[in-house]
Amino acid sequence: MITNVHSGISRRHFLVSGTLAAAVPLLDPHHLFAEVDGLVATARKEGAESKITLQPLRGEVSVLMGSGGNIAVLTGRDGKLLVDAGYAGSRIQIGDALAAIDSNPIKHLINTHWHFDHTDGNEWLHSAGATIFAHENTRKHLSTSTRVKAWDFTFPPSPPGAIPAEVFTAERTLDLNRTQIALKRFAPAHTDGDISVHFANADILHVGDTFWNGYYPFIDYSTGGSIEGMIRATETTLAKVTEKTVIIPGHGPVADKSRLRSYCDLLVTVRDKVASLKKQGQSLDEVLASKPTASYDSKWGGGFMSPTMFTRLIFEGV
Ligand SMILES: [Zn+2]
Repeated sequence: MITNVHSGISRRHFLVSGTLAAAVPLLDPHHLFAEVDGLVATARKEGAESKITLQPLRGEVSVLMGSGGNIAVLTGRDGKLLVDAGYAGSRIQIGDALAAIDSNPIKHLINTHWHFDHTDGNEWLHSAGATIFAHENTRKHLSTSTRVKAWDFTFPPSPPGAIPAEVFTAERTLDLNRTQIALKRFAPAHTDGDISVHFANADILHVGDTFWNGYYPFIDYSTGGSIEGMIRATETTLAKVTEKTVIIPGHGPVADKSRLRSYCDLLVTVRDKVASLKKQGQSLDEVLASKPTASYDSKWGGGFMSPTMFTRLIFEGV
């Protein structure tokens, strides 16, 4: 049985403070973070104040929510394996949540992609004992200065301890805690280094930021993402999972196949509408004025990505 712990994370996910969330619809994405006191500083501050929710799933797998992206945890005699690291500022709360599961030490960490809200905790988790695994492009972006145009922000190289030591190109399989853990690359979708992580025994799949459950997704064109890639990745996941698979999104509550199908329908419908209007010669402002996301806004438009910001990202990619 999966408990819905949606309340409590919707206002806390990613970088959204109450003030900023209220301001989002008014701001051009290029200026969004110029309004706040530095992206990294704000996120660290948010992370330090975050309340972490521990949700047991099945088998020996749980999910921690509340600090950046969703963190999956597998535990057992080989130690704990985490999928994504949250914000560094949440170290104390994440450490407490991990200790509440059991006393097994932290041994492995997998990054679903390079973004700060999934990798900021890499350094402390490495110092606590984790070997870090990721796609080779995730290591590339963490190793150098990387600019995200839509945030108007350049991330400096991560410290040496935060850089993944074990990277792969297409797929990699780990055998730990009596289960197989399959790491598989998506074709570029949200970034150029997205991977899924499947816990075979429990049939639980973490799909990183290819799936935002209940929110319009951010798409990072600066490091290889695209709306077409997001749709392809979602279709790939739909073809792979069954009705029984538990799906952990990058942001939002734990989901199942039918929920992922709704998200896929949303992406395809909005993409088609925006592409058709753009093909007719409409400008960005005209497309925005026609509100192509309107029928979805009440259910999906309340997060980090406003309907306007999401429509701009789609327009850029069709
Ligand atoms: Zn991301």
